[in-house]
Amino acid sequence: MPMRLAEPRRCLFCLCIGGESDVLPIISEGPATVSFVNPRQFEHGQALVVTRRHAPTILDLSEDEAAALMEAVRQTAHTLARAYDPDGMTVYQNNGVASLQEIPHVHFHVVPRRDGSPYALPPQISGISPAVTPPGVVRPPEELRATAAEIRAHAAAPLP
Ligand SMILES: [Zn+2]
Repeated sequence: MPMRLAEPRRCLFCLCIGGESDVLPIISEGPATVSFVNPRQFEHGQALVVTRRHAPTILDLSEDEAAALMEAVRQTAHTLARAYDPDGMTVYQNNGVASLQEIPHVHFHVVPRRDGSPYALPPQISGISPAVTPPGVVRPPEELRATAAEIRAHAAAPLP
């Protein structure tokens, strides 16, 4: 049986990739991937890494897309590490409504972590419904743009 997916009217990631929306400020772009600032900032600098092509889940990726996506995740993690010197880095990915994937366009969450943060686990994993995202977690657009600029300033350094 096919995996059940959320059904947004139009895909927010595709709108942002196509330049029709700037709700998700861009951190970096590659031939097959794009990294965004996540409007939900459970931790400051929380990012999303997506494929350019609208592939609903990880099961829909080609081998080349999967490799490009993981490399973009690695690069984004390095950029966030340089930008914030975090105590840890959480990387997670959800597929289908049963895993609380909200936007059915394959994406990874890359989250710089701080010791002592009250954000214990990603909401999808801890069972918190995205509908009850705590107030203040979704940051205003001007702050998200500033966060993207802050992260981009650390994007150019060569990787190990
Ligand atoms: Zn899409």
